[in-house]
Amino acid sequence: MRLAFLVLFGFAVAEKNYDRFKVLRASWEDSEQTEIVGSLLERFETMNLWEPESLENIKYTQAVDFMVSEEEALLFREQVGSFSEIKTLIDDAGKIINEQKVEQKRATQGLRGASYPYDQFLTYPQLEEWILENSDEELMSSEVIGTTIEGRKIYGVHLGDQDPTSDKKKVFIECNIHAREWITPSTCRYFIHMLRSAKNGVDLTPSSFSMQDLLDILEHNWYIIVSMNPDGYQYTFDHDRMWRKNREPNDGSQCIGTDVNRQFPVGHLTEGGSPNPCHFGYAGSAPFTTREANIWKDWFMALRNAGGGDMHAQISVHSYSQLIMPPWASDRLAIPDEPEDIDYKGSMHLLETLSH
Ligand SMILES: [Zn+2]
Repeated sequence: MRLAFLVLFGFAVAEKNYDRFKVLRASWEDSEQTEIVGSLLERFETMNLWEPESLENIKYTQAVDFMVSEEEALLFREQVGSFSEIKTLIDDAGKIINEQKVEQKRATQGLRGASYPYDQFLTYPQLEEWILENSDEELMSSEVIGTTIEGRKIYGVHLGDQDPTSDKKKVFIECNIHAREWITPSTCRYFIHMLRSAKNGVDLTPSSFSMQDLLDILEHNWYIIVSMNPDGYQYTFDHDRMWRKNREPNDGSQCIGTDVNRQFPVGHLTEGGSPNPCHFGYAGSAPFTTREANIWKDWFMALRNAGGGDMHAQISVHSYSQLIMPPWASDRLAIPDEPEDIDYKGSMHLLETLSH
C-alpha cells in the first residue's frame, strides 16, 4: 500500500517531458478530409491542440496547429500527408521549454519585486511579489480576493482613482485564466507598468500612441486580475508547461482540474466545454463549481454593485488564437438576444486602443 502511494506520488510530481515534440500546422482543401484529420488527432495520446481551441471547430478553411510527440507527428505525416500541407512550426518543443526555464531563472535571479524585468515571464511567487511591491495606494492598490485550493492568493488590482467616491467608469480585466498562456499575466503586468510609468511622466508607448492616450485611459478605473489561475500557472513552471486547467480534484475521477474559462453559465457544456474531467476543456458539472470562477464572479459583482461609475467593459485576455470575441462567445452564431447593457462599439474602440 505504502509502495503504491509512493509510486503514484512520484509519478504525480515528475515533470512532463516534451523532448522532440513537434508543433505542426496542417491545412487541406476538401471539407470531407476534415473528418479524417479530426478523428486522427482525436486518437493521438500526446496531442495538444493550439488552434482552434477544440476539435469540433476544425475546418478545411483554417489551418490547424497542434503539438504531438515525434512518433505521432510521423504517423500524422504518413496518414494525411498525401492531401494535407504540413508545416513544422516548432521542431523540438521540449528544447525550447528547457531553454526558456534556464533563461527565466538566470534573468530573475537575485532580483526582487519591482525590479523583475518586463521581458521575462515570472513564476507566481515572483508575480505576487511584484503586485505587492507596486501597490503604492496612490495609483495602484491590491487586495486578496480569494484563495485557491493549494492556498495561493488571488489578487485584485485597482489602478486609477483611489478615492472611494470616484465616479469614473470601471473596466474589468482578467488574465491567465488558462494556466499555460504565459503571455497573458505578462500583458496585464505590462499594461499596469505602462500606465504607472505614464503617470510618472515616463513614456513607454509605441510612437503611434501618445502619452495623452495613456492618460486618457486613466480616465477609467481599472480592476485587474493579473493571474486568475495561480495553481495552474505555477504547475506549468514546475510540472507541465502545457497545463491549462486549475488544480482542483474532481469527485469520482482521478483526473485533476477544471477549465475555469468554461465555468460560466452562458453556453455551459456546449461548444468548447467538455463533460469529461480528464479533458483539457473540462467545464465542471455545473457553472461556478470551482473556487476561481466564484472568486471572479464575487469580485466582478461586488465592483458592479458598488457605487461610483458604471462597469463599462469586461475583458478576458487569452493567447495564441488571433481572435477578438465579443459576448456571447460560446459559439460562432449571431447573438441570440443582445443584452441592452453591452456596448459593442465602445468595447471595440477600447480594444483597438489597447491593441496599439
Ligand atoms: Zn485561453
